[in-house]
Amino acid sequence: MKCPVCGEDCVESAHEIINQLPSIFAPCPKCSARTLDKSAPLKEQSFREPCACGKRYIDETFAHIYTIFVEEGILSSSSPLKDVGYPLTHPGFAMATAPYLKKDTLVLLSPVVSSTAAERVVTEVPEIKGVVKCGRFVPGALDVDLAKEPQTYELLAGCDVRADVFYTQTHPVVTYKQQSRLHIEFPRGYDPKIVSVGAHIKHLLPRIFVDACCGAGTLGILGGMLGVPRVFLNDAWYAAAFWAGFNLKVNSEFLLVGSVHILKEYQDMENQPVRKEPELIAEAHGDQHIEVYHGDFRRLSQVLPRERGILTVIDLFEKGNSEFNKKLEQEWRGQVGGDVFIP
Ligand SMILES: [Zn+2]
Ligand SMILES: [Zn+2]
Repeated sequence: MKCPVCGEDCVESAHEIINQLPSIFAPCPKCSARTLDKSAPLKEQSFREPCACGKRYIDETFAHIYTIFVEEGILSSSSPLKDVGYPLTHPGFAMATAPYLKKDTLVLLSPVVSSTAAERVVTEVPEIKGVVKCGRFVPGALDVDLAKEPQTYELLAGCDVRADVFYTQTHPVVTYKQQSRLHIEFPRGYDPKIVSVGAHIKHLLPRIFVDACCGAGTLGILGGMLGVPRVFLNDAWYAAAFWAGFNLKVNSEFLLVGSVHILKEYQDMENQPVRKEPELIAEAHGDQHIEVYHGDFRRLSQVLPRERGILTVIDLFEKGNSEFNKKLEQEWRGQVGGDVFIP
């Protein structure tokens, strides 16, 4: 599949990602590992090259980036190794041991990186897929009232599209995202929110499942995989709504739908990053009907069918107190009805 950020071939279907997991970050018999102290500076300004198999232990990749950052004057030779930034593997999944990375399997988030250093890292460090300058904030539209101006990180070099794999009661859900535009949600292997949503669906057997603040779409797609006939995903933040639609396509082989139609271009959606009125941006039809909207969930009732058997999950990023949540649930019941819960 063509990547909507870089236009290259950096997106695979869900089964291609899942099939790679057991071996993608495993060493070959000749791979070596040097464990480095992340809270100390790198002793000699040197790093080992990748193994003949093309993989390299993550600490060595970090040492390589560190030497570039020191040469570029971003870090001093007394800075601790961890000051390089935060590594996010592609794909992201719960791992028992630290990874041996191969080409294009790491997105680096760094608060200190410059454009020149980012270009050098992407060119010279084969494991790095993209470099993002991050800040002390979470990207996206995060507050319920959509009153705060959303912020994003900045992609400086390469491509920051990466996938996370979430284990569920049924098939794993693969969610791609552009990391500079969405909050980090690295899979831990056991995610209580996913388990609780799955349990609600299995218990209530809804005819309609609404993932009202869907982010990259994990919970809504889970609803689809658990066989709910009609699923609605929605988010007010353009990148969340777009990637939710895109991820419908990525996971469509495990849904009872024909082709998935993405109705908007990612770059066009960026012109109106936060929407209030719901706009349909992706849909898939077959034995199941799944629709993705870009808008304020408090106005989503405009497009929801007036039927019984609706289950809604409102997965807020900024969790309110229980009184606030109760009010929100009541408001939703008044507009839409059915069962609703805030995980
Ligand atoms: Zn890409
Ligand atoms: Zn090797």
